[in-house]
Amino acid sequence: MKIIEAKNIVRTYHNGEIDVPVLKGVDISVDEGEFVLLTGKSGAGKSTLLYQLALLDTPNDGQIFIEGIERHDMEEGAKLKFRLKEFGYVFQDYALLPELTALENVALPLIMAGITKTEAYNKAQNMLEKVGIGAKANNLQSQLSGGEKQRVGVARAIVNDPKILFADEPTANLDSENSKVVMDLLKELNADGQTIILITHEPEFYHYGDRRLVIEDGRFI
Ligand code: ADP
Repeated sequence: MKIIEAKNIVRTYHNGEIDVPVLKGVDISVDEGEFVLLTGKSGAGKSTLLYQLALLDTPNDGQIFIEGIERHDMEEGAKLKFRLKEFGYVFQDYALLPELTALENVALPLIMAGITKTEAYNKAQNMLEKVGIGAKANNLQSQLSGGEKQRVGVARAIVNDPKILFADEPTANLDSENSKVVMDLLKELNADGQTIILITHEPEFYHYGDRRLVIEDGRFI
């Protein structure tokens, strides 16, 4: 089944008086359970595309269907709820809250989605075990290595059992050993059925995907 179908996505940013066309009519469809890689030169529009598909930004034109239902034009409150429930995100800078422990960071999306604290913390602990850092649950971000921070990032992204996991260069700030740990973890999740759309620059990970799309000058080539 097609979990995402996007048609003619156009995104133009405005820099003062100047229009910066970034996506010039992109079509993409992703099957449930697929691991899709987005690649291309810096500035090509990979993050912009990911943000449109992930409903974190709104295209100027085009349509985005998630499981067959048009979703890009939802009202902001409904969009936020939908994202909390259905999507997971991993960012290159981890995007953890520094004043919260690993456990609290992972529990946060569940608490925001209205789940009780006890249940949220139980689930969060299970997720930390799953990504191999259960023993670091009470550490703050400052007490975690880069690889551990990103494993917290992955645990937080999957704690709500998302339909789609979006990852924007999750290994950009990691050494090669930790990059492989994180990519292997994502591959395992995909083997268990998780749909993943991931941006990477690193050719050594190209074979992790079922499919690799290259974006250039606002279009796929
Ligand atoms: P990539 O992820 O492939 O490196 P991006 O999608 O981040 O590329 O950016 C594509 C282009 O859009 C770049 O030229 C960037 O400067 C521009 N851009 C991205 N976000 C914005 C924004 N919010 N406002 C203006 N320009 C932007």
